[in-house]
Amino acid sequence: MKKTSGKSTRGKRQSNSRSGQPRKRTGQENGENQENDLQKLFVDELADIYNAEQQLTKALPKLAKAAESDVLRQAFEDHLEETTEQLSRLDEVFRALGESPKRKTCKGMQGLIEEGKEVMEEHEGTEAVDAALIACEQKVEHYEIASYGTLCAWAERMGNSEALDLLKENMEEEEATDEKLTQLAESLANERAEQSA
Ligand code: FE
Ligand code: FE
Repeated sequence: MKKTSGKSTRGKRQSNSRSGQPRKRTGQENGENQENDLQKLFVDELADIYNAEQQLTKALPKLAKAAESDVLRQAFEDHLEETTEQLSRLDEVFRALGESPKRKTCKGMQGLIEEGKEVMEEHEGTEAVDAALIACEQKVEHYEIASYGTLCAWAERMGNSEALDLLKENMEEEEATDEKLTQLAESLANERAEQSA
């Protein structure tokens, strides 16, 4: 294992309770059924991305409908199918943890979708519409990649390989979608938007 410096800052960073009392430790040392703070955080983040994916199953058909080119429409439709599959994987992750999906609204995704709506309205019917749609969806993909990246790191830390494998699959689909959208922007949408004058 790599050693960084002699003095560890770990204890300092973690003693964030005002009373100076050590934080309550649950989990392994207190029995299997009690969750530690990382597990709680994990379940919260999982609920957040679950809701984000749910919001996307409603937004992606709208993006597909607004797309000018057939390839872009197809890309949105394909990703809608993947998104449904991603939700089933998230169900499995909840099961792997012995939890049920908690209700939570992902405000980040709400904001991205809201902004996407505005952009769509502003550029509807123009040659730039596909470039605009791609820009919106890539922000969404990056948000998802960030969430899955975090969840994968936590699943690994928690030693939950079942959850890790499922989350990795979702993350890889988001990355592939992001790359596909870059290709479509560069091969088609950006040029079309530029040549409209
Ligand atoms: Fe997704
Ligand atoms: Fe996605």
